[in-house]
Amino acid sequence: MTGFTNRKELLSEMQKGDHLDWDIIVIGGGITGAGILREARRRGFKALLLEQQDFSWGTSSRSSKMVHGGLRYLASGDYKLTKESVQERQRLLNEAPGLVDPISFYLTFRKGLFPGRFVMKVILTIYDFFAGTRDNKYFNNEELQKRFHGLDDNKLNGANCFTDAMVDDSRLVLRVLQDSIDDGGYALNYTKVDNLLLTDGKVSGVRIKADDYSDFIELNSRVVINATGAWADRLRNIVNKEKRIRPLRGSHIIIPKSLCPISDVLTFFHVEDKRGIYVYPWEGTTVIGTTDLDHDEDLDIEASISDLEVDYLLKAYNSQFPDNPLKSSDILSTWAGVRPVIGSKKNKDPSKERRDHAVWSDNGLITVSGGKLTTFRLIALDVLAAAKESLPKAKDFVDDRMFQTPEITPQSLTPKNRNWGQRLLGRYGMKAIEILKESSQVEKNNLGETEFSLAECRWAVKNEAVEHLDDLLLRRTRLGMCLSNGGSELYPALKEIFLSYESWDEERWQKEVSRYETIWKKHYSLPINT
Ligand SMILES: Cc1cc2nc3c(=O)[nH]c(=O)nc-3n(C[C@H](O)[C@H](O)[C@H](O)COP(=O)(O)OP(=O)(O)OC[C@H]3O[C@@H](n4cnc5c(N)ncnc54)[C@H](O)[C@@H]3O)c2cc1C
Repeated sequence: MTGFTNRKELLSEMQKGDHLDWDIIVIGGGITGAGILREARRRGFKALLLEQQDFSWGTSSRSSKMVHGGLRYLASGDYKLTKESVQERQRLLNEAPGLVDPISFYLTFRKGLFPGRFVMKVILTIYDFFAGTRDNKYFNNEELQKRFHGLDDNKLNGANCFTDAMVDDSRLVLRVLQDSIDDGGYALNYTKVDNLLLTDGKVSGVRIKADDYSDFIELNSRVVINATGAWADRLRNIVNKEKRIRPLRGSHIIIPKSLCPISDVLTFFHVEDKRGIYVYPWEGTTVIGTTDLDHDEDLDIEASISDLEVDYLLKAYNSQFPDNPLKSSDILSTWAGVRPVIGSKKNKDPSKERRDHAVWSDNGLITVSGGKLTTFRLIALDVLAAAKESLPKAKDFVDDRMFQTPEITPQSLTPKNRNWGQRLLGRYGMKAIEILKESSQVEKNNLGETEFSLAECRWAVKNEAVEHLDDLLLRRTRLGMCLSNGGSELYPALKEIFLSYESWDEERWQKEVSRYETIWKKHYSLPINT
């Protein structure tokens, strides 16, 4: 199979009474659900994933995009989470170069402020030890200025540099889903689990409602897994009234690279609350993040950055670069995500809550929430261990790699641009060859300062279950966040692509543009009153 599950075909077969029985149904199309689908297929189970919106629409397209051990977990004594995370980071760097890539972090020191250089050296040495590497190093002020022009040198006492990794979070979900589908799994976006089915008080399936279909469909499954992240209490509360999720919002702002041209990550502590802040390069832009506060709003409405968060992030940046201060009008776009944190009830301060995952089993429903992008494989293994008793014997397998290394070198794919070739192989595996074959020369050009191309847009519309324009501009690619005005300059080229593969006419195209612009203005731009 080349592309994603054919949504219309599968839904209409279900309506006729086919595909109603499954070994595993996974609810939630973020990285947690995608990882479970992948591991379930590897074991030979008949598995289906259901996502109420688009794949990765929830938190998994709105993270800081770091594949990391999380130094702050180490600093707060959470050795297990840090160790597992750095080991998973190494695994992902080895298996998916081009999708998960190393990047240098510079953690700056200011005289009189904690933590100092020597405390950090100890922490970073433990960090390296967990990963089996030795790469942390001290840089003095002069060397720092070369990497971060204009960095305030008042009380500056150099920085420790260490290596972590970055990923396009949405593309990580897409790649895991794609590999699961190639391996015989099924995944449907825009299909909501509206209720659970119970037999003798035990969960035995789900009732689904797909967007643009009027009928409900009932599906049976040996195991139902609730991997709905910040939404997890909702389905779990059907069988257990306990509330465990504390939704915490984190927001980022994006500025044009020209205002802060950096290739490494700058890390420092916010002047107000001493939380760690990152300024980092991403897709031809510079990103500043993040915040961490209780999110009391309706989870059905996409999260948006608030005025207070914009001010907090601008203040953080301007404290480091006071000679070239940013204003809100410099901001290209924003994003806000909701962390599915397991609340402890004892921490008033959101940033003190632990960030590991939990798995609960209630009357046949297995719920998983919390955790990180970085540890998604380990989370999936914990979930399948909890489901084991209800499943048939798993198929034997020897290769436990999450991603198969493509049998082609980046040079042979794109002789002139090895890095771009690696990027395509990391994101699409062997499908990178078809992407290049199916696009014209001009479609292979980078768009703006990003490394995205129309070739990828064409591929996504044809093969990656794109239902709306926003799926393409905000998740299959991130052009909507990285180009000015939400990438509206691309409309003519995108219209031609959409009209050749989707059964869209002029009216539908206009509706999609209007839907996309409404979403962009409300949730990926500055707060309306700014
Ligand atoms: C600001 C921020 C920064 C972060 N930075 C990092 C980082 O740098 N590195 C890192 O490792 N982690 C990071 N994280 C954490 C990481 O992003 C999350 O742990 C992870 O994305 C959670 O994935 P998930 O699949 O559990 O949840 P989600 O991605 O939210 O997926 C759950 C899905 O379930 C769907 N759903 C809900 N109800 C239903 C239903 N009834 N039927 C069908 N579908 C349903 C939702 O639409 C959603 O798409 C960050 C998180 C935030 C918020």
